[in-house]
Amino acid sequence: MANWKMQLSLKESLELAKQYTKKVNSKKNEVVVCPDYAALPFLNPILKPFGFILGAQDCAAFAKGAYTGEVSPQNIKTLGAKYVILGHSERREHLHENSALINEKIKAALANKLVPVLCIGEKLEEKKAGMTRDYLLQELHHGLKGVKIKTVTDLVIAYEPIWAISTNKNAKPIFPAEADLIQKFIKEQAQKILKKSVRVLYGGSVNAVNAADFLNEANIDGLLIGGASLKLTEFSIITN
Ligand code: PEP
Repeated sequence: MANWKMQLSLKESLELAKQYTKKVNSKKNEVVVCPDYAALPFLNPILKPFGFILGAQDCAAFAKGAYTGEVSPQNIKTLGAKYVILGHSERREHLHENSALINEKIKAALANKLVPVLCIGEKLEEKKAGMTRDYLLQELHHGLKGVKIKTVTDLVIAYEPIWAISTNKNAKPIFPAEADLIQKFIKEQAQKILKKSVRVLYGGSVNAVNAADFLNEANIDGLLIGGASLKLTEFSIITN
């Protein structure tokens, strides 16, 4: 899953999407491209014929109504997206999103037949204090409160330790074996809450060198990739 964040102009998004269709392998694994909202309708006709899947980076907690500036999950679905990233740590930090709002967004996404990708991850302070699992458990309980899914493919969780996200100071990836243990914990806890198993992605400083090590771990079902998804060669190595 490529998270382009708000890093590209519309022109650059179209250009990168066209290059993806030449170099990125969309057949080996499901490759989901998450551009900003403005690029979504333009990317759909470029990427869909090559088997790429589209995702949005957020959505409103409501399908319709007087919510100036919000983007409806209904319209995101109409534009051809299948997935929607929710609760990304950048939104939690810079846009002050809390777990209650993220929980509402998950429900709105599901009601509009989008697959939510719930992002959770601890800060460095929580890791240092040995609180990683407590924090993640709390996030899972808040984020998934009252959420109902029918099958494993209805919802995805992304484990992104905040200290490992490449745009953060001194970021470095977690060891794949350590991520695997934490993801096992996330899977078990999510299963208890949802009464269904779900897939768990890892995200945080994934690159062409370390991607295979993460994917070889039993509890890492895929990758959420920021910085490296903007570099064509890097991303094509990861997908090939
Ligand atoms: C992200 O922010 O979702 C992310 C995983 O970023 P990066 O791959 O650049 O660490």
